[in-house]
Amino acid sequence: MKKERINLLGAGLIGSLLAIYLRKRGLEVSIFEKRQDWRHLNVSGEGRSINMALSYRGWKALERAGIKDKVIPYTQAMYGRRIHDEHGDTFFQPYGKEDQAIYSISRNAFNKILLDEAEAQGASVHFGHKVEHVNVAAREVSFSLEDGSEKSIHSEVLIGSDGAYSALRNAFQSQLRFNFNQQYISHGYKELSIPPSPEGEFAMDPNALHIWPRGKFMLIALPNLDKSFTCTLFLPFEGYKVSFANIHDERDIEQVFKTHFNDAYNLMPNLLEDFTRNPTAALINTECYPWTENNTLLIGDAAHAMVPFYGQGMNCGFEDCSILDGLIAKYGTSSWDLVFEKFQKGRKPDTDAICQLAMDNFVEMSDNVADPKFLIRKKIEARLHELYPQEWVPLYSMVTFSEMKYSEAYAIGKLQEKVMDRVMSDPLITQNWDRLDYEDILHQVVVSGAV
Ligand SMILES: Cc1cc2nc3c(=O)[nH]c(=O)nc-3n(C[C@H](O)[C@H](O)[C@H](O)COP(=O)(O)OP(=O)(O)OC[C@H]3O[C@@H](n4cnc5c(N)ncnc54)[C@H](O)[C@@H]3O)c2cc1C
Repeated sequence: MKKERINLLGAGLIGSLLAIYLRKRGLEVSIFEKRQDWRHLNVSGEGRSINMALSYRGWKALERAGIKDKVIPYTQAMYGRRIHDEHGDTFFQPYGKEDQAIYSISRNAFNKILLDEAEAQGASVHFGHKVEHVNVAAREVSFSLEDGSEKSIHSEVLIGSDGAYSALRNAFQSQLRFNFNQQYISHGYKELSIPPSPEGEFAMDPNALHIWPRGKFMLIALPNLDKSFTCTLFLPFEGYKVSFANIHDERDIEQVFKTHFNDAYNLMPNLLEDFTRNPTAALINTECYPWTENNTLLIGDAAHAMVPFYGQGMNCGFEDCSILDGLIAKYGTSSWDLVFEKFQKGRKPDTDAICQLAMDNFVEMSDNVADPKFLIRKKIEARLHELYPQEWVPLYSMVTFSEMKYSEAYAIGKLQEKVMDRVMSDPLITQNWDRLDYEDILHQVVVSGAV
Protein backbone atom coordinates (compact mmCIF):
# COMPACT_ATOMS: atom_id res chain seq x y z
CA MET A 1 0.00 0.00 0.00
CA LYS A 2 1.32 3.47 -0.89
CA LYS A 3 2.17 5.43 2.21
CA GLU A 4 0.78 8.90 2.56
CA ARG A 5 3.29 11.74 2.12
CA ILE A 6 3.09 14.76 4.37
CA ASN A 7 4.73 17.94 3.14
CA LEU A 8 5.98 20.32 5.82
CA LEU A 9 6.87 23.94 5.10
CA GLY A 10 9.74 25.18 7.30
CA ALA A 11 12.52 23.19 9.00
CA GLY A 12 12.70 25.31 12.15
CA LEU A 13 12.39 23.82 15.63
CA ILE A 14 8.74 22.86 15.28
CA GLY A 15 8.85 21.52 11.72
CA SER A 16 11.87 19.38 12.59
CA LEU A 17 10.30 17.87 15.71
CA LEU A 18 7.02 17.26 13.91
CA ALA A 19 8.90 15.45 11.13
CA ILE A 20 10.35 13.08 13.75
CA TYR A 21 6.91 12.35 15.18
CA LEU A 22 5.39 11.74 11.74
CA ARG A 23 8.21 9.47 10.63
CA LYS A 24 7.75 7.43 13.81
CA ARG A 25 4.14 6.91 12.74
CA GLY A 26 5.46 5.47 9.47
CA LEU A 27 4.44 8.40 7.29
CA GLU A 28 6.51 9.70 4.40
CA VAL A 29 7.71 13.22 5.19
CA SER A 30 9.27 15.96 3.05
CA ILE A 31 10.31 19.30 4.53
CA PHE A 32 10.80 22.40 2.36
CA GLU A 33 13.00 25.08 3.92
CA LYS A 34 13.91 28.46 2.48
CA ARG A 35 17.37 28.61 4.08
CA GLN A 36 20.38 26.81 2.72
CA ASP A 37 21.62 24.01 4.94
CA TRP A 38 23.18 25.98 7.83
CA ARG A 39 24.26 23.01 9.90
CA HIS A 40 27.91 23.18 8.90
CA LEU A 41 28.25 26.85 9.90
CA ASN A 42 29.93 27.49 13.23
CA VAL A 43 28.45 29.68 15.92
CA SER A 44 30.18 32.89 14.90
CA GLY A 45 29.28 35.00 11.91
CA GLU A 46 26.24 33.84 10.01
CA GLY A 47 25.72 30.92 12.33
CA ARG A 48 25.45 33.17 15.40
CA SER A 49 22.76 31.79 17.60
CA ILE A 50 20.49 33.06 20.31
CA ASN A 51 19.60 30.69 23.08
CA MET A 52 16.25 29.50 24.26
CA ALA A 53 14.82 28.43 27.59
CA LEU A 54 13.52 24.88 27.37
CA SER A 55 11.05 23.87 30.07
CA TYR A 56 8.83 20.98 31.16
CA ARG A 57 6.37 20.92 28.25
CA GLY A 58 9.22 21.04 25.75
CA TRP A 59 11.09 18.25 27.53
CA LYS A 60 7.95 16.11 27.62
CA ALA A 61 7.41 16.49 23.88
CA LEU A 62 11.07 15.63 23.22
CA GLU A 63 10.78 12.59 25.48
CA ARG A 64 7.70 11.32 23.65
CA ALA A 65 9.54 11.72 20.35
CA GLY A 66 12.42 9.69 21.84
CA ILE A 67 15.01 12.45 21.50
CA LYS A 68 15.31 13.86 25.02
CA ASP A 69 18.59 12.09 25.79
CA LYS A 70 20.26 13.53 22.69
CA VAL A 71 19.30 17.07 23.78
CA ILE A 72 20.31 16.92 27.46
CA PRO A 73 24.09 17.31 26.87
CA TYR A 74 23.49 20.60 25.04
CA THR A 75 21.63 22.28 27.90
CA GLN A 76 22.59 24.37 30.89
CA ALA A 77 20.24 24.38 33.89
CA MET A 78 18.94 27.70 35.24
CA TYR A 79 17.31 27.32 38.66
CA GLY A 80 16.05 30.88 38.99
CA ARG A 81 16.38 34.50 38.07
CA ARG A 82 19.39 36.43 39.25
CA ILE A 83 18.31 40.04 39.46
CA HIS A 84 20.93 42.75 39.01
CA ASP A 85 19.98 46.08 40.56
CA GLU A 86 21.29 49.47 39.50
CA HIS A 87 24.09 49.37 42.11
CA GLY A 88 25.44 46.10 40.80
CA ASP A 89 24.01 44.07 43.71
CA THR A 90 22.37 40.79 42.77
CA PHE A 91 19.80 38.56 44.39
CA PHE A 92 18.41 35.17 43.42
CA GLN A 93 14.74 34.23 42.96
CA PRO A 94 14.23 30.49 42.52
CA TYR A 95 11.84 29.56 39.71
CA GLY A 96 10.20 26.80 41.69
CA LYS A 97 11.18 24.02 44.05
CA GLU A 98 14.84 23.28 44.65
CA ASP A 99 15.36 20.92 41.74
CA GLN A 100 13.13 22.76 39.26
CA ALA A 101 14.96 24.50 36.44
CA ILE A 102 14.56 25.77 32.94
CA TYR A 103 17.32 24.93 30.50
CA SER A 104 19.32 27.20 28.22
CA ILE A 105 20.12 25.79 24.78
CA SER A 106 21.52 27.34 21.62
CA ARG A 107 18.78 27.62 19.02
CA ASN A 108 21.14 26.62 16.18
CA ALA A 109 22.52 23.61 18.00
CA PHE A 110 19.00 22.55 18.92
CA ASN A 111 17.64 22.95 15.41
CA LYS A 112 20.58 20.90 14.12
CA ILE A 113 19.94 18.04 16.59
CA LEU A 114 16.26 17.89 15.63
CA LEU A 115 16.85 18.15 11.91
CA ASP A 116 19.64 15.56 11.97
CA GLU A 117 17.27 13.22 13.80
CA ALA A 118 14.41 13.92 11.36
CA GLU A 119 16.75 12.98 8.49
CA ALA A 120 18.06 9.95 10.34
CA GLN A 121 14.44 8.80 10.75
CA GLY A 122 13.96 9.12 6.98
CA ALA A 123 12.47 12.59 6.40
CA SER A 124 13.74 14.24 3.22
CA VAL A 125 14.74 17.88 3.59
CA HIS A 126 14.78 20.26 0.63
CA PHE A 127 16.81 23.35 1.44
CA GLY A 128 16.80 26.55 -0.59
CA HIS A 129 13.05 26.18 -1.27
CA LYS A 130 11.27 29.41 -0.46
CA VAL A 131 7.49 29.18 -0.51
CA GLU A 132 6.20 31.99 -2.70
CA HIS A 133 2.58 31.06 -3.03
CA VAL A 134 0.15 28.42 -1.77
CA ASN A 135 -3.09 27.55 -3.54
CA VAL A 136 -5.03 26.08 -0.62
CA ALA A 137 -7.93 24.74 -2.71
CA ALA A 138 -5.56 22.80 -4.99
CA ARG A 139 -3.01 22.22 -2.20
CA GLU A 140 -0.33 23.41 -4.57
CA VAL A 141 2.82 25.16 -3.34
CA SER A 142 5.08 27.27 -5.57
CA PHE A 143 8.70 27.75 -4.55
CA SER A 144 11.53 29.94 -5.73
CA LEU A 145 14.86 28.14 -5.66
CA GLU A 146 18.34 29.50 -4.97
CA ASP A 147 19.32 29.45 -8.67
CA GLY A 148 16.35 31.68 -9.51
CA SER A 149 14.21 28.88 -10.92
CA GLU A 150 10.70 28.03 -9.79
CA LYS A 151 9.02 24.80 -8.86
CA SER A 152 5.54 23.66 -7.82
CA ILE A 153 4.39 20.63 -5.85
CA HIS A 154 1.04 19.14 -5.06
CA SER A 155 0.39 17.78 -1.55
CA GLU A 156 -2.11 15.35 -0.13
CA VAL A 157 -1.47 16.77 3.31
CA LEU A 158 0.33 20.07 3.87
CA ILE A 159 1.50 21.50 7.20
CA GLY A 160 2.82 25.04 7.63
CA SER A 161 5.54 25.14 10.28
CA ASP A 162 7.03 28.19 8.60
CA GLY A 163 7.03 30.56 11.55
CA ALA A 164 5.54 33.91 12.52
CA TYR A 165 5.44 35.19 8.92
CA SER A 166 4.01 31.96 7.52
CA ALA A 167 3.40 31.75 3.78
CA LEU A 168 0.65 29.16 4.32
CA ARG A 169 -1.09 31.52 6.74
CA ASN A 170 -0.80 34.31 4.17
CA ALA A 171 -2.66 32.05 1.76
CA PHE A 172 -5.35 31.40 4.40
CA GLN A 173 -5.92 35.15 4.54
CA SER A 174 -7.60 35.09 1.18
CA GLN A 175 -10.04 32.43 2.43
CA LEU A 176 -13.49 33.38 3.54
CA ARG A 177 -13.99 33.98 7.29
CA PHE A 178 -10.34 33.64 8.26
CA ASN A 179 -9.56 35.69 11.38
CA PHE A 180 -6.10 37.12 11.77
CA ASN A 181 -4.71 39.52 14.31
CA GLN A 182 -1.12 40.71 14.59
CA GLN A 183 0.42 43.12 17.03
CA TYR A 184 3.93 44.49 17.11
CA ILE A 185 4.77 45.60 20.63
CA SER A 186 6.50 48.88 21.43
CA HIS A 187 9.79 47.14 22.21
CA GLY A 188 12.43 45.56 20.03
CA TYR A 189 15.49 43.51 20.93
CA LYS A 190 19.15 43.15 20.14
CA GLU A 191 21.48 40.22 20.82
CA LEU A 192 24.73 40.98 22.71
CA SER A 193 27.26 38.78 24.47
CA ILE A 194 29.36 38.26 27.59
CA PRO A 195 32.41 36.10 26.81
CA PRO A 196 34.06 33.75 29.33
CA SER A 197 36.31 35.44 31.90
CA PRO A 198 40.07 35.74 31.16
CA GLU A 199 40.48 32.53 33.21
CA GLY A 200 38.09 30.78 30.82
CA GLU A 201 35.25 30.56 33.35
CA PHE A 202 31.67 31.83 33.39
CA ALA A 203 31.80 35.54 34.19
CA MET A 204 28.60 35.27 36.29
CA ASP A 205 26.46 32.63 38.03
CA PRO A 206 26.06 29.96 35.30
CA ASN A 207 22.89 28.43 36.78
CA ALA A 208 20.60 31.42 36.53
CA LEU A 209 18.81 33.53 33.98
CA HIS A 210 20.21 36.99 34.65
CA ILE A 211 17.91 40.00 34.51
CA TRP A 212 18.67 43.70 34.74
CA PRO A 213 15.12 45.10 35.08
CA ARG A 214 14.94 48.85 34.53
CA GLY A 215 11.25 49.71 34.27
CA LYS A 216 10.59 50.35 30.60
CA PHE A 217 13.61 48.39 29.45
CA MET A 218 15.72 45.44 30.49
CA LEU A 219 18.68 43.27 29.70
CA ILE A 220 18.70 39.50 30.15
CA ALA A 221 21.49 36.92 29.82
CA LEU A 222 21.38 33.14 29.40
CA PRO A 223 24.42 30.87 29.85
CA ASN A 224 25.99 28.91 27.01
CA LEU A 225 27.96 25.67 27.20
CA ASP A 226 31.14 27.46 26.06
CA LYS A 227 30.91 29.55 29.28
CA SER A 228 29.78 32.68 27.50
CA PHE A 229 26.37 34.31 27.96
CA THR A 230 24.04 35.44 25.22
CA CYS A 231 22.37 38.67 26.27
CA THR A 232 19.21 40.20 24.90
CA LEU A 233 18.57 43.89 25.30
CA PHE A 234 14.87 44.85 25.20
CA LEU A 235 14.27 48.56 24.59
CA PRO A 236 11.34 50.63 23.35
CA PHE A 237 11.87 51.56 19.72
CA GLU A 238 11.09 55.21 20.51
CA GLY A 239 9.19 57.52 22.84
CA TYR A 240 11.48 57.15 25.87
CA LYS A 241 14.85 58.60 26.80
CA VAL A 242 16.38 55.13 26.73
CA SER A 243 15.19 53.77 23.40
CA PHE A 244 16.71 52.48 20.18
CA ALA A 245 15.81 55.78 18.48
CA ASN A 246 18.00 57.70 20.95
CA ILE A 247 21.09 55.57 20.53
CA HIS A 248 22.96 57.16 17.63
CA ASP A 249 26.61 56.35 18.15
CA GLU A 250 29.14 54.51 20.28
CA ARG A 251 29.06 57.21 22.95
CA ASP A 252 25.31 56.72 23.40
CA ILE A 253 25.72 52.94 23.67
CA GLU A 254 28.40 53.33 26.33
CA GLN A 255 26.38 55.88 28.21
CA VAL A 256 23.28 53.68 28.39
CA PHE A 257 25.29 50.68 29.53
CA LYS A 258 27.51 52.52 32.02
CA THR A 259 24.47 54.24 33.54
CA HIS A 260 22.01 51.36 33.68
CA PHE A 261 23.92 48.09 33.36
CA ASN A 262 27.34 48.95 34.70
CA ASP A 263 28.18 45.50 36.12
CA ALA A 264 27.26 43.89 32.79
CA TYR A 265 29.11 46.61 30.87
CA ASN A 266 32.33 45.63 32.66
CA LEU A 267 31.92 42.10 31.31
CA MET A 268 31.12 43.08 27.71
CA PRO A 269 34.35 43.78 25.81
CA ASN A 270 32.55 43.31 22.48
CA LEU A 271 29.62 45.56 23.32
CA LEU A 272 30.20 48.22 20.66
CA GLU A 273 30.87 45.70 17.93
CA ASP A 274 27.88 43.52 18.91
CA PHE A 275 25.57 46.50 19.18
CA THR A 276 26.45 47.98 15.82
CA ARG A 277 26.70 44.69 13.95
CA ASN A 278 23.62 42.88 15.25
CA PRO A 279 20.21 43.83 13.91
CA THR A 280 17.47 45.38 16.01
CA ALA A 281 14.54 43.01 15.72
CA ALA A 282 10.83 43.55 16.29
CA LEU A 283 8.54 41.47 18.53
CA ILE A 284 5.20 40.28 17.25
CA ASN A 285 2.14 38.51 18.59
CA THR A 286 -0.10 36.81 16.03
CA GLU A 287 -3.33 34.96 16.56
CA CYS A 288 -5.50 33.45 13.86
CA TYR A 289 -8.33 31.00 13.23
CA PRO A 290 -9.07 28.55 11.72
CA TRP A 291 -5.74 26.76 11.53
CA THR A 292 -6.94 24.17 9.05
CA GLU A 293 -8.50 24.10 5.62
CA ASN A 294 -8.70 21.34 3.03
CA ASN A 295 -6.11 18.99 4.61
CA THR A 296 -3.69 21.80 5.38
CA LEU A 297 -2.71 22.91 8.89
CA LEU A 298 -0.81 25.70 10.64
CA ILE A 299 1.36 24.74 13.62
CA GLY A 300 3.88 26.41 15.96
CA ASP A 301 4.55 30.10 15.39
CA ALA A 302 2.68 29.94 12.07
CA ALA A 303 -0.51 29.44 14.11
CA HIS A 304 0.36 31.47 17.22
CA ALA A 305 3.50 33.61 17.49
CA MET A 306 3.92 35.11 20.93
CA VAL A 307 6.27 37.63 22.51
CA PRO A 308 9.13 35.84 24.30
CA PHE A 309 8.45 36.95 27.88
CA TYR A 310 7.19 33.63 29.21
CA GLY A 311 9.83 31.61 27.38
CA GLN A 312 7.06 29.43 25.96
CA GLY A 313 6.87 29.95 22.17
CA MET A 314 9.00 26.93 21.32
CA ASN A 315 7.77 24.88 24.29
CA CYS A 316 4.20 25.51 23.20
CA GLY A 317 5.03 24.59 19.59
CA PHE A 318 6.63 21.34 20.79
CA GLU A 319 3.51 20.61 22.82
CA ASP A 320 1.48 21.22 19.63
CA CYS A 321 3.49 18.44 17.94
CA SER A 322 2.92 16.02 20.78
CA ILE A 323 -0.83 16.75 20.94
CA LEU A 324 -1.17 16.38 17.17
CA ASP A 325 0.69 13.08 17.36
CA GLY A 326 -1.71 11.88 20.07
CA LEU A 327 -4.66 12.68 17.81
CA ILE A 328 -3.06 10.84 14.89
CA ALA A 329 -2.61 7.84 17.19
CA LYS A 330 -6.27 8.05 18.17
CA TYR A 331 -7.97 8.78 14.84
CA GLY A 332 -5.50 7.31 12.36
CA THR A 333 -4.34 8.78 9.10
CA SER A 334 -7.37 8.19 6.94
CA SER A 335 -9.22 11.33 7.96
CA TRP A 336 -6.85 14.25 8.33
CA ASP A 337 -9.72 16.71 8.36
CA LEU A 338 -10.99 15.13 11.60
CA VAL A 339 -7.53 15.09 13.19
CA PHE A 340 -6.86 18.72 12.22
CA GLU A 341 -10.31 19.84 13.36
CA LYS A 342 -9.88 18.17 16.76
CA PHE A 343 -6.43 19.70 17.03
CA GLN A 344 -7.48 23.27 16.39
CA LYS A 345 -10.61 23.10 18.56
CA GLY A 346 -8.75 21.61 21.51
CA ARG A 347 -5.65 23.71 21.25
CA LYS A 348 -6.80 27.22 20.36
CA PRO A 349 -8.02 28.26 23.86
CA ASP A 350 -4.64 27.21 25.23
CA THR A 351 -2.53 29.11 22.73
CA ASP A 352 -4.73 32.20 23.23
CA ALA A 353 -4.05 31.90 26.97
CA ILE A 354 -0.28 31.60 26.64
CA CYS A 355 -0.10 34.45 24.11
CA GLN A 356 -1.89 36.64 26.67
CA LEU A 357 0.31 35.46 29.55
CA ALA A 358 3.43 36.20 27.51
CA MET A 359 2.22 39.75 26.96
CA ASP A 360 1.39 40.17 30.67
CA ASN A 361 4.76 38.78 31.75
CA PHE A 362 6.65 41.54 30.02
CA VAL A 363 5.48 43.89 32.77
CA GLU A 364 6.51 41.41 35.43
CA MET A 365 9.98 40.84 34.03
CA SER A 366 10.88 44.41 33.18
CA ASP A 367 9.29 46.23 36.06
CA ASN A 368 7.96 44.23 38.96
CA VAL A 369 10.83 41.84 39.65
CA ALA A 370 12.76 44.64 41.36
CA ASP A 371 9.77 46.05 43.27
CA PRO A 372 9.98 45.19 47.02
CA LYS A 373 6.21 44.72 47.27
CA PHE A 374 6.27 42.34 44.34
CA LEU A 375 8.97 40.37 46.11
CA ILE A 376 6.84 40.10 49.25
CA ARG A 377 3.97 38.93 47.07
CA LYS A 378 6.19 36.24 45.57
CA LYS A 379 7.30 35.20 49.07
CA ILE A 380 3.69 34.84 50.22
CA GLU A 381 2.89 32.78 47.15
CA ALA A 382 5.97 30.63 47.73
CA ARG A 383 4.91 30.09 51.37
CA LEU A 384 1.42 29.11 50.24
CA HIS A 385 2.91 26.64 47.81
CA GLU A 386 5.17 25.25 50.54
CA LEU A 387 2.24 24.81 52.96
CA TYR A 388 -0.27 23.57 50.37
CA PRO A 389 1.77 22.11 47.50
CA GLN A 390 -1.24 20.59 45.75
CA GLU A 391 -3.71 23.39 46.34
CA TRP A 392 -1.63 26.49 45.62
CA VAL A 393 0.69 26.20 42.65
CA PRO A 394 2.08 29.55 41.41
CA LEU A 395 1.07 30.50 37.88
CA TYR A 396 4.68 30.48 36.69
CA SER A 397 5.03 26.89 37.92
CA MET A 398 1.77 25.77 36.31
CA VAL A 399 2.98 27.16 32.98
CA THR A 400 6.64 26.21 33.23
CA PHE A 401 6.79 23.04 35.30
CA SER A 402 3.59 21.22 34.43
CA GLU A 403 1.52 20.11 31.46
CA MET A 404 -1.69 21.63 32.78
CA LYS A 405 -3.62 23.20 29.92
CA TYR A 406 -2.48 26.78 29.47
CA SER A 407 -6.11 27.96 29.57
CA GLU A 408 -6.65 26.25 32.92
CA ALA A 409 -3.44 27.71 34.34
CA TYR A 410 -4.56 31.12 33.09
CA ALA A 411 -7.96 30.84 34.80
CA ILE A 412 -6.50 29.66 38.12
CA GLY A 413 -3.85 32.38 37.87
CA LYS A 414 -6.57 35.03 37.56
CA LEU A 415 -8.30 33.79 40.72
CA GLN A 416 -5.02 33.70 42.62
CA GLU A 417 -4.28 37.22 41.42
CA LYS A 418 -7.61 38.48 42.79
CA VAL A 419 -6.98 36.91 46.18
CA MET A 420 -3.39 38.18 46.28
CA ASP A 421 -4.51 41.70 45.33
CA ARG A 422 -6.74 41.61 48.40
CA VAL A 423 -3.93 40.34 50.61
CA MET A 424 -1.50 42.95 49.29
CA SER A 425 -3.98 45.80 49.85
CA ASP A 426 -3.18 45.61 53.59
CA PRO A 427 -1.00 48.70 54.21
CA LEU A 428 1.06 46.79 56.79
CA ILE A 429 1.72 43.82 54.55
CA THR A 430 5.50 44.39 54.32
CA GLN A 431 5.77 43.96 58.12
CA ASN A 432 3.08 41.32 58.53
CA TRP A 433 3.49 39.00 55.61
CA ASP A 434 5.15 36.37 57.73
CA ARG A 435 2.24 36.22 60.20
CA LEU A 436 -0.67 35.94 57.76
CA ASP A 437 -3.46 33.43 58.13
CA TYR A 438 -2.36 31.29 55.21
CA GLU A 439 -5.17 28.83 55.61
CA ASP A 440 -7.66 31.66 55.15
CA ILE A 441 -5.93 32.83 51.96
CA LEU A 442 -6.16 29.34 50.56
CA HIS A 443 -9.80 29.16 51.62
CA GLN A 444 -10.54 32.32 49.59
CA VAL A 445 -9.24 30.59 46.48
CA VAL A 446 -11.11 27.38 47.26
CA VAL A 447 -14.42 29.21 47.61
CA SER A 448 -13.73 30.99 44.32
CA GLY A 449 -13.59 27.54 42.77
CA ALA A 450 -9.95 27.43 41.76
CA VAL A 451 -9.03 24.23 43.51
C1 LIG B 1 14.05 36.89 21.22
C2 LIG B 1 13.28 35.61 21.31
C3 LIG B 1 13.52 34.75 22.36
C4 LIG B 1 12.78 33.57 22.49
N1 LIG B 1 13.02 32.76 23.55
C5 LIG B 1 12.28 31.64 23.72
C6 LIG B 1 12.51 30.78 24.84
O1 LIG B 1 13.37 31.05 25.67
N2 LIG B 1 11.73 29.67 24.97
C7 LIG B 1 10.74 29.36 24.08
O2 LIG B 1 10.05 28.35 24.26
N3 LIG B 1 10.51 30.14 22.99
C8 LIG B 1 11.25 31.26 22.79
N4 LIG B 1 11.05 32.06 21.70
C9 LIG B 1 10.02 31.66 20.71
C10 LIG B 1 10.60 30.67 19.71
O3 LIG B 1 11.73 31.21 19.08
C11 LIG B 1 9.56 30.33 18.65
O4 LIG B 1 8.32 30.05 19.25
C12 LIG B 1 10.00 29.10 17.85
O5 LIG B 1 11.22 29.36 17.20
C13 LIG B 1 8.94 28.75 16.82
O6 LIG B 1 9.41 27.74 15.99
P1 LIG B 1 8.79 27.51 14.53
O7 LIG B 1 9.52 26.34 14.00
O8 LIG B 1 7.31 27.52 14.62
O9 LIG B 1 9.18 28.84 13.75
P2 LIG B 1 10.63 29.31 13.31
O10 LIG B 1 11.62 28.99 14.36
O11 LIG B 1 10.48 30.73 12.91
O12 LIG B 1 10.95 28.41 12.04
C14 LIG B 1 10.29 28.61 10.83
C15 LIG B 1 11.10 27.97 9.73
O13 LIG B 1 10.41 28.16 8.50
C16 LIG B 1 11.30 28.67 7.53
N5 LIG B 1 10.52 29.51 6.62
C17 LIG B 1 9.93 30.71 6.89
N6 LIG B 1 9.31 31.19 5.81
C18 LIG B 1 9.49 30.27 4.83
C19 LIG B 1 9.10 30.21 3.46
N7 LIG B 1 8.41 31.19 2.88
N8 LIG B 1 9.46 29.12 2.73
C20 LIG B 1 10.17 28.10 3.32
N9 LIG B 1 10.59 28.13 4.59
C21 LIG B 1 10.25 29.20 5.35
C22 LIG B 1 12.32 29.47 8.33
O14 LIG B 1 13.53 29.65 7.63
C23 LIG B 1 12.47 28.61 9.58
O15 LIG B 1 13.44 27.60 9.40
C24 LIG B 1 11.78 33.25 21.54
C25 LIG B 1 11.55 34.12 20.47
C26 LIG B 1 12.27 35.28 20.36
C27 LIG B 1 11.97 36.22 19.23
